[in-house]
Amino acid sequence: MRLLEDIVAAKPHIQSIRRDLHAHPELRFAEHRTSEVIATILKGWGVEVHRGIGGTGVVGVIRGGGADAPQAVGTIAGRTIGLRADMDALPIHEANEFAHRSTHAGRMHACGHDGHIAMLLAAARHLAQAPNFFGTVVLIFQPAEEGGAGAQRMLDDGLFERFPCDAVFAIHNWPGLAVGTLGVANGPAMAATSEFEICIQGRGAHAAMPDLGVDPIFVAVQIAQGLQALVTRVKRPMDRAVLSITMIHAGEATNIIPDTATISGTVRTFDDAVTDLMEQGMRRIVQATAQAHEAQAQLRFERSYPPTVNHEREAQLAATVGEEVLGPENVRRDMEPTMGGEDFSFLLRQCPGAYLFLGNGTTGSHRSAGHGMGPCTLHNASYDFNDDLIPIGASYWVRLVERYLSDA
Ligand SMILES: [Zn+2]
Ligand SMILES: [Zn+2]
Repeated sequence: MRLLEDIVAAKPHIQSIRRDLHAHPELRFAEHRTSEVIATILKGWGVEVHRGIGGTGVVGVIRGGGADAPQAVGTIAGRTIGLRADMDALPIHEANEFAHRSTHAGRMHACGHDGHIAMLLAAARHLAQAPNFFGTVVLIFQPAEEGGAGAQRMLDDGLFERFPCDAVFAIHNWPGLAVGTLGVANGPAMAATSEFEICIQGRGAHAAMPDLGVDPIFVAVQIAQGLQALVTRVKRPMDRAVLSITMIHAGEATNIIPDTATISGTVRTFDDAVTDLMEQGMRRIVQATAQAHEAQAQLRFERSYPPTVNHEREAQLAATVGEEVLGPENVRRDMEPTMGGEDFSFLLRQCPGAYLFLGNGTTGSHRSAGHGMGPCTLHNASYDFNDDLIPIGASYWVRLVERYLSDA
């Protein structure tokens, strides 16, 4: 690996910032302290800071040493690259007992966004002190990735009008991938997410006299079974989709057929057309099944995040830079996409770019005394960002900027 020496030397300092953020997690759109910490640190390094974009969002701007240089005129030098880190924590009670564990009951950085901030800060420090590039770097510290569509809020607040970017990139730390391995997906990286709720209205009756009522539980079960046909029989086998029913609520006693039942869950796809197909199919199956059994049913289908789809040129560049910094053996150009969702998708709809995975480790070797036991997956109460990624991710960011904003 070709890590930058000053970044490696600054690791203890940046790690202490990361651990302070870990100890003070804030939920979506409430990242007040977090954004204050980020803004103060950036200003201390002489970075131009803009606040309050999309609520608690922070944008830092670093102009390259070559931006005003005569040789820059009419060349690639005027370009702008956006680097994004999300800031929010999750409503999970932390199980870790190390010194930097969450000081807030019921809140923790279980998705490693504290580490995303740290890697981008470490890169910002270097870029501000050694702006060896032509053009502009826009550091995007975004609120509310976890279900709040904070990226969209920043766009609504004029992110790209105020800070037009030619390309945007984001990194997510990724457990299960070896430390220092970069995963780059071709095309879709993360899924489109939709949530649904189906309310079934039957007619309650004595459990021993079902003929006198309309059993909504029976109807709910028929619908639950029928919906899976959309995945196996309706969409093309080559298209990827998952439909998971995660809640069924009905009834209170063994001798009563209830009036109503509700089914809720999520649909994930990589393509809006497939989401359309799934929604239309759900409406048909829900209505027809209810009608067949003399019940009534309503489907509420809400789309939250669009699919996160990498742009080819930017994904290739990201992988090439990865090979330079991390070594060719540590880059996976064919990273399998995941069915998780990501609101960076909103930025990629308006600007070319790529969403990247950086291995947080496979063995949990960074887990020390005080780490909880059990699987170390994202959104787990024992999760912790691996600080070894700070110099890796930051060196990568710097090299990506220099490559993208080079005059070569
Ligand atoms: Zn998450
Ligand atoms: Zn995350």
